[in-house]
Amino acid sequence: MTAITDLGIAGLRDGFRAGDFSAREIADAFNGAVAGAKALNAFIIETPDHAIAAAEAADRARAAGELLPLSGVPLGIKDLFCTAGYQTTAASRMLGGFTPTYESTVTAKLFAAGAGMLGKLNLDQFAMGSSNETSAFGNVVSPWRRNDGGNAALAPGGSSGGSSSAIAARIVPAATGTDTGGSIRQPAAFTGIAGIKPTYGRCSRFGIVAFASSLDQAGAMAQDVRDSAILLEAMSGFDPKDSTSLDVAVPQWEANLSSDLKGKKVGIPKEYRVDNMPPEIDALWKQGIEWLRDAGAEIVDVSLPHTRYALPTYYIIAPAEASSNLARYDGVRYGLRDLPEGANLQEMYAATRAAGFGPEVKRRILIGTYVLSAGFYDAYYTKAQKVRALIARDFEEAFRQVDVLLTPTAPSAAFALGEKSADPLEMYLNDVFTVPASLAGVPAMSVPAGLDGQGLPLGLQIIGRPLDEQGVLNAGLAIEQRAGFTAKPQNWWAK
Ligand code: GLN
Repeated sequence: MTAITDLGIAGLRDGFRAGDFSAREIADAFNGAVAGAKALNAFIIETPDHAIAAAEAADRARAAGELLPLSGVPLGIKDLFCTAGYQTTAASRMLGGFTPTYESTVTAKLFAAGAGMLGKLNLDQFAMGSSNETSAFGNVVSPWRRNDGGNAALAPGGSSGGSSSAIAARIVPAATGTDTGGSIRQPAAFTGIAGIKPTYGRCSRFGIVAFASSLDQAGAMAQDVRDSAILLEAMSGFDPKDSTSLDVAVPQWEANLSSDLKGKKVGIPKEYRVDNMPPEIDALWKQGIEWLRDAGAEIVDVSLPHTRYALPTYYIIAPAEASSNLARYDGVRYGLRDLPEGANLQEMYAATRAAGFGPEVKRRILIGTYVLSAGFYDAYYTKAQKVRALIARDFEEAFRQVDVLLTPTAPSAAFALGEKSADPLEMYLNDVFTVPASLAGVPAMSVPAGLDGQGLPLGLQIIGRPLDEQGVLNAGLAIEQRAGFTAKPQNWWAK
């Protein structure tokens, strides 16, 4: 029999409904797995009490015939979502000990749908990073190892690396993520799981610690495409508390999953064929094209001419918005306060911010204030906004010809911890394929598609039209069925 912890959302939900196990048994199994996997450092706090309370409610609901969509399913929650009564840190010392009195809309929806919470997952500090090494709580470790016998500890991707590591290690069945420039898709690719960033505005940003507000989107990370659809459905929906929330109905993505792509056109953007891309990734991309053709799609070459400006544009706009959003951490209203003996107000601000923010966050605040400063605003920020509009227009043009786009998710497999942390630019380059969809606000997903020569997972990315998460999920399903990705990391971490 399959172990409970090997099951994803659909397997748990359906098994629970069929009476194969109780919700309490599910919660106990995952709480045990979480407690035994400290070596991954995937969690900032564990919340077994929350998972158990939700499980007991689910068992009562089953007895009463009042099942909810996620009854019996426990989840990991990225520690960027405010959770009432549970510490929320954004992996920063700045929010150390901050316990929100309110619930983010996304977690409120998940709990209202019956889900429980196993804990708050580690991440890059304020979601800034691609490797989880910027967390103030220590880096997350990927459960994967290269098959070269070297045992190097690998990055789980970032910023949602606690989420990706925990799902890949099967210590949570699924988790929330957030994606500002790739933080759902790149960690998903690095760890052999699925992850979808929906259209900007699908999920409410209320109660999510802000990084770059015009880019931040919550999304689903899970073992497979079906689970991603189920989770995203429960997370999405209009919220008057977020002025950028879209007032549109949430489709039934799970019920409408179909891997039959007859009549669909898939675009292959030539600008994503970058220099120095490992040949294995190029080969996997070609394989993906064949899989989608086999599913009935017509393949069309397309051009997104401004792609090469996406990375520099993102690394102006995201820090600009971050510097403004992070101005609120003044030592007065939230979390940390550093008040040296005899300090005045200015000195208290400076001491608090010096002590609270990590080096990557400080770097972004400095870049952001620089590009927004009076002398440089037009040269950098205004220019970046104009280029962003051109990048969005590229996608509009492409989606006149095709239904979805297929690209690799990241230009490399997981790198070793420490390998890129000395050079921020090299780290930023890992986001080259994910930031364009973020700048355009369109939905995009990564699905596990194969292994590289060292036995590490590689992902393919599907990008869709605004609000066409269904098209993205369906193409993802077509790839998933043909890739038959079943590889799992060797369990070295369990106690
Ligand atoms: N890696 C990107 C960055 O560092 C994206 C992060 C994110 O999507 N939150 O900004």
